[in-house]
Amino acid sequence: MICKNCGWKIYDKAAVCPHCGAPTENAVKKKKEKKNKRVINGYAIAGLSLGAVGILFCMEMIFFIFPLLGIIFSAIALYKSKKLGGKKLAILGLVISIIGMVVWLFVWITVLVTMITAG
Ligand SMILES: [Zn+2]
Repeated sequence: MICKNCGWKIYDKAAVCPHCGAPTENAVKKKKEKKNKRVINGYAIAGLSLGAVGILFCMEMIFFIFPLLGIIFSAIALYKSKKLGGKKLAILGLVISIIGMVVWLFVWITVLVTMITAG
């Protein structure tokens, strides 16, 4: 291949031109690959997992913390999705966390109502 900076013929797999030191197309490609790998948005995954755990364990009163944290993490994920990506995952996490919260509320309101009406 030919260096875009100085026009010298260089080795096809070289990342940097040995003549002028300019990064070649290979170096640019590698950088792009790294960027693509970094797309995973950790906050979105955390939000999604916490929301799902919240739904699974809604029978435990203390577990309202999970969907609550899920909502917080998903909100952060949504905020950071411009840089990190994973916007759809963040929205999904937010929806699941809110469902978890609603399910928890429904379960415990039912329990409370049952307790009051039975008593
Ligand atoms: Zn060069």
